[in-house]
Amino acid sequence: MSLSLSGISLTSNPVEEKHVKVLVLGSGPAGLTAALYAARAELEPVVLTGTELGGQAALTHTIENYPGFPDGVGGSELGELFQKQAERFGATVEFDTADSVDLSERPYKVTTDNGVYLADSLIIATGARSNHLEIPGEIKLTGKGVSYCATCDGWFFKEKRVVVVGGGDSAIEEALFLTRYGSSVTVIHRRESLRAGKVLQNRAFSNPKIKFIWNSVVTEVVGNEKVTTLKLKDTQTGLESDLEADGLFIFIGHTPNTQMFKGQLEMDELGYIQANQYMETSKPGVFVAGEVADSHFRQVITSAGMGAAAAIQATQFLEKETVLS
Ligand code: NAP
Repeated sequence: MSLSLSGISLTSNPVEEKHVKVLVLGSGPAGLTAALYAARAELEPVVLTGTELGGQAALTHTIENYPGFPDGVGGSELGELFQKQAERFGATVEFDTADSVDLSERPYKVTTDNGVYLADSLIIATGARSNHLEIPGEIKLTGKGVSYCATCDGWFFKEKRVVVVGGGDSAIEEALFLTRYGSSVTVIHRRESLRAGKVLQNRAFSNPKIKFIWNSVVTEVVGNEKVTTLKLKDTQTGLESDLEADGLFIFIGHTPNTQMFKGQLEMDELGYIQANQYMETSKPGVFVAGEVADSHFRQVITSAGMGAAAAIQATQFLEKETVLS
């Protein structure tokens, strides 16, 4: 298209369209494992990394329950290994983010920051993001003491008073990690028992640096340039109190990254994409893998397994089409 403005001729380049057999959205364990399997099926998959290369797993300091690594493995290191292995068989990993998708007809159209992909099949592995407490001061002080990632920000809290909110595996695992830095780590949980697994619980209970405040919630984060105080409320008595703190780490669950698929794919009430045991969604040729469709297991190994399954199904789907055409 050509525009003429005050005698100056402006020519806009047509948006580059790229046709691919398999497009994988997301570069966490699910996406990169899907890419590995699709690459080994010679489908030359393209992976769009999204904003978080390696997904949430890459933010985890050490992963101790991924088989094959008896001494544990760094989250980002494992992500790099997944990527290297997928690339070895012909996957292309693009540092690009899908902005919108059109699933009304095939090939499916995915518009990114850099162009448009037309995909014969799609594997959605866009994962989930950390929930916020949604209390006063939280947004203002994010990056100034409020954090959702211990691996990223723990270092800034050497000899500081750190507070962790949450009672699940993430909260307890990250509280244990933060004891490397903080002078103290206080876990605030809204009930009086943890949701976290027993192994993590026992480790936390026997760590002298970790204290617990039960039956309490944080209602406000106070500070100007940095966090100074947290306002707490006892969930049983309603009593309010102040707790001096330098850092607040929030680990209270996740929300799936499915906004751009709303109205196009079937989802549950929490926004997780619905799929059958074959990772098939409500649209032919669109498969899912990992936390975007799993609010239950949420493990690196289960996400990777779902990625493999989704790619196997995508391969069969494309093969059937070739045979029939
Ligand atoms: P989670 O299991 O959903 O736990 C969230 C925690 O935050 C719960 O303790 C919950 O309290 C609390 N919470 C939720 N909303 C809150 C609010 N508004 N205010 C205060 N507290 C709030 O989430 P997760 O810990 O991120 O774990 C997610 C999944 O990943 C789980 O399946 C977990 O097993 C898995 N995971 C596994 C590992 C591992 O195996 N090493 C590590 C990390 C995560 P209630 O307990 O009262 O509901």
